[in-house]
Amino acid sequence: MSDAPRIVVLAGDGIGPEIVDATTKILDSLGEFTYEPQLLGGCSIDEHGTALTDEVLEACKSADAVLLGAVGGPKWDTTNPDDPRPEQGLLGLRKGMGLYANLRPVRPSPALVDASPLRQDVIAGTDLLVVRELTGGIYFGASGREGDRAYDTCEYTAAEIERIARTAFEAARRRAEGSGRKPKVTSVDKANVLESSRLWREVVIRVAPDYDDVTLDHLLVDNAAMQLVSRPADFDVIVAENLFGDILSDEAAMLTGSLGMLPSASLGADGDPGLFEPVHGSAPDIAGQGVANPLATFLSAALMLRHGLERPDEAARIEAAVDAVLARGLRTADLVPSGTSSVGTAEITSAVLDEL
Ligand code: NAD
Repeated sequence: MSDAPRIVVLAGDGIGPEIVDATTKILDSLGEFTYEPQLLGGCSIDEHGTALTDEVLEACKSADAVLLGAVGGPKWDTTNPDDPRPEQGLLGLRKGMGLYANLRPVRPSPALVDASPLRQDVIAGTDLLVVRELTGGIYFGASGREGDRAYDTCEYTAAEIERIARTAFEAARRRAEGSGRKPKVTSVDKANVLESSRLWREVVIRVAPDYDDVTLDHLLVDNAAMQLVSRPADFDVIVAENLFGDILSDEAAMLTGSLGMLPSASLGADGDPGLFEPVHGSAPDIAGQGVANPLATFLSAALMLRHGLERPDEAARIEAAVDAVLARGLRTADLVPSGTSSVGTAEITSAVLDEL
């Protein structure tokens, strides 16, 4: 049997198949991979009446890694709570695969700093990673309504905090490898007000001595939101609980000004397969036109190589090739003002392949 990594490929809906197909071309230029295409989201609803079947979940759990395009589209929009919805597939996958850590790197390509809403001298040099806890906190705590009163509860256990803290410290180490720079983790909480945040801070401090090569600091979430726009280049790894991480990762994403460029990784326990996908959605408005920007999915494949398959050198090659193509001035339509000339999915894919 081939020892090529087995990657379950969930192309999904909308532009998903186009960007994932381009990405497997990039991976094929680096080595041998075995792809197992499976259905997720709207396409799975059409075929099986559910966004995620047990068979697909099992295939994902036994793979070396899972690469996802995007799911959803107007065809499956519904207000009936009993109808299946594409995003149930994503939630089911996260839960079923035990993916408790979401990693979103924000590193505006030097050629694209002018797309940022921030001044160039503020955004220049930004290269940060938001590590968000994905399966705990207020999104999963008890919630309800009693008459005109409503409540949501934020709960964390020390074990949940410890594992995400370790993910953050280890990611910081991995990012700094070979750079000669000292890795840093900024832990975000609201320890001046919330008991769950006080436990968060206590546990992060307790785990830190195992990573004495990594600098640790703490920021209150309101302050973190401000610092992220005033001095983004000073951050390395930011770790936060689910709700704070949700908000800060979108704020950080906006620093780049280009949705079509942002990759993400969701990781579970050591040795279990991770899920790698672009941050953007299925862009139904441009599906099938050959104009989708595949770069966020290429960069997601780079995260897969670095955090899922222990192949950091190839990850860096993809990132460098993407930078080089942008430096040459090639842009897909989403990266330029409308009316400006741009290239399609196939052309930018060939350009990245040439660089590789
Ligand atoms: P979207 O990210 O799909 O699109 C927002 C805008 O950005 C659109 O104009 C789109 O054309 C453009 N865009 C996004 N990605 C692009 C790319 N790679 N290249 C070029 N242009 C790109 O968000 P939306 O319109 O709010 O949602 C569309 C569908 O996607 C909805 O059904 C939504 O539920 C779903 N969605 C899925 C995911 C996911 O699968 N992870 C995430 C977000 C939204």
